[in-house]
Amino acid sequence: MKDATRVVRAGLPDVAQGEPFLPGPTFAGAYHLAGDPAGSAYTYGRYHNPTWTAYEKAVTELERGEATVVFASGIAAVAATLGVTLKPGDVLVMPSDAYYTSRLLTGGFFTTMGVEVRQAPTAGNAQEALLEGAKVLWLESPSNPGLDVCDVAHLAEAAHAAGALVVVDNTTPTCLGQQPLALGADFSLSSDTKATTGQSDLILGHVSVREPAWAERLRSWRTQMGSTPGPMEVWLAHRSLATLHMRLERQCANALAIAQFLASCPEVSGLRYPGLPEDPAYPIASRQMQFYGPVVSFALADREHAERFLHHCELVFEATSFGSIHTTAERRARWGGDRVPEGFIRFSAGCEASEDLIADLMQALDQAHSLS
Ligand code: PLP
Repeated sequence: MKDATRVVRAGLPDVAQGEPFLPGPTFAGAYHLAGDPAGSAYTYGRYHNPTWTAYEKAVTELERGEATVVFASGIAAVAATLGVTLKPGDVLVMPSDAYYTSRLLTGGFFTTMGVEVRQAPTAGNAQEALLEGAKVLWLESPSNPGLDVCDVAHLAEAAHAAGALVVVDNTTPTCLGQQPLALGADFSLSSDTKATTGQSDLILGHVSVREPAWAERLRSWRTQMGSTPGPMEVWLAHRSLATLHMRLERQCANALAIAQFLASCPEVSGLRYPGLPEDPAYPIASRQMQFYGPVVSFALADREHAERFLHHCELVFEATSFGSIHTTAERRARWGGDRVPEGFIRFSAGCEASEDLIADLMQALDQAHSLS
């Protein structure tokens, strides 16, 4: 069955006369629980919830894994995966260009806890050289915001040969854009805040695994750390998931059209989109990705030029997220933390008509340029 079909039905209960297709959220702190709790599937709201169960089933189907654990945020999923795999003295190999907060967490908390963190860039499979003695290899492909890619299958094989576990932060492509577990990873995690749900209306994350024992540990972490998601968010995520394939088709077509347009603009430098055949990431990306994702990155001359451009865009919300049905962009250097030039823009294509988006970019670039 095609992904476009599977995603519409993922995680839905069996047909039952008079019941809704997707049952509504279950709001529960406590459940009725008399006597011995062993026989009850649901005991207390921090441990489990039927709305989580349905979403986890859906995501497991799409990730082609064995189990999924949903978390209150993408970073809660990151923290849980690090927390269950690492102990003091272990070695973690991180991408030096990974998502900023993942680097903050590993360079701060986990380093203080005694984990040795080694870093190398995503491009050129540079992390491979650091694998000796490693416990965990962390990959993020494409990286955020630089959009470099690495060869996940190759690195997973090298990591396993070195005795390391492999985690892929799959936020940018989503589970329909890239399937890390099929490429050999042990953990596929995602901030479902982004394209997986795509409405800019919730914060959520998940981790999918091939080995159910890891899911047990992740569940215990969630229960003991309290990184539990709200049922309303999870239900909204499940509802939004059904349109993921449609949204990605439109967003990725828009991202490619925008990248092709930007490639023709003399004031644009450092353009990256893994789906652009001229992009250095394309040879690997085209082998391992089904969708190249909604994010395009590029730079204008300096901070003022980038700010003028964003100010003049009429169809682009300036916001610090990506993957939404609404086109968004931001000047990434306004935060610090990423090694990007002052004029660097992370741009996320939404579901609007590409002609409208390109016309808007054209006028905004013209205005930003003419005022320089
Ligand atoms: N991983 C990546 C690649 C991200 O871009 C983000 C957020 O931007 C996260 C993880 C964290 O996700 P959340 O903001 O849902 O906690």
